[in-house]
Amino acid sequence: MIALTNISERLNSVRENIIAAAERSGRHPSDIGLVVISKKHPIEKMREALDAGVSVFGESRLQEASVKIPLLPARTRFHFIGHLQKNKLRKLLPLFELFHSIDSLELALEMDRIASDLGLFPRVLLEVNISAESSKYGFVPHDLENLLEKLLSLPRLQVEGFMTMAPLSDDPETSRSIFSQLRLLRDQLAIQAGIPLPTLSMGMSNDYEVAVEEGATLVRVGSAIFGKQ
Ligand SMILES: *Cc1c(COP(=O)(O)O)cnc(C)c1O
Repeated sequence: MIALTNISERLNSVRENIIAAAERSGRHPSDIGLVVISKKHPIEKMREALDAGVSVFGESRLQEASVKIPLLPARTRFHFIGHLQKNKLRKLLPLFELFHSIDSLELALEMDRIASDLGLFPRVLLEVNISAESSKYGFVPHDLENLLEKLLSLPRLQVEGFMTMAPLSDDPETSRSIFSQLRLLRDQLAIQAGIPLPTLSMGMSNDYEVAVEEGATLVRVGSAIFGKQ
């Protein structure tokens, strides 16, 4: 069972790193949630992670998630972290407890409509393209200022905060300003809207410690726990 030891050891070191980063920045470790990203990793590894105390997995594709979810214990929780397609929403909505990646008004309107059909009130985050790279999904900050009121008025969607991805880099420090910009944008939008918008989903295997230092409340870590696919 070498693999099992590996996953639980890696998990422990990620947890310790989160605690250390929280303490460095004067935050309480219990304010940071770990979403273990299991996309493209086999169900056996997910079972090992469950045995090591993981409670939330992140998946990015309907097809893969709908095979895996019925095979895992019913108490297992799932977040959707991938790009959302309108024609998949009807199947996705019942499977996931949080959607990290609302990236357009059209998508939000369609999700709200389908949630109403299904009798659901999905919890969502708004994906922000802080770096405004054309290759990335997400709202650009300026558009969000104008669209926020409309997004928050949708009766079915429970908007809890924001998600972002930093540009790929070997140096986690290059992500720092992206993460701090998202936190500052959130602070500004929360004042504009008059509600807290508490959740900040930011940080992956290469930069989750920096994300915690900059205020992440959810980090999304895959390969640092499961290895490279
Ligand atoms: C794959 C993925 C992650 C996890 O990436 P790792 O580098 O494996 O930690 C996090 N967030 C999103 C949106 C992803 O697609």
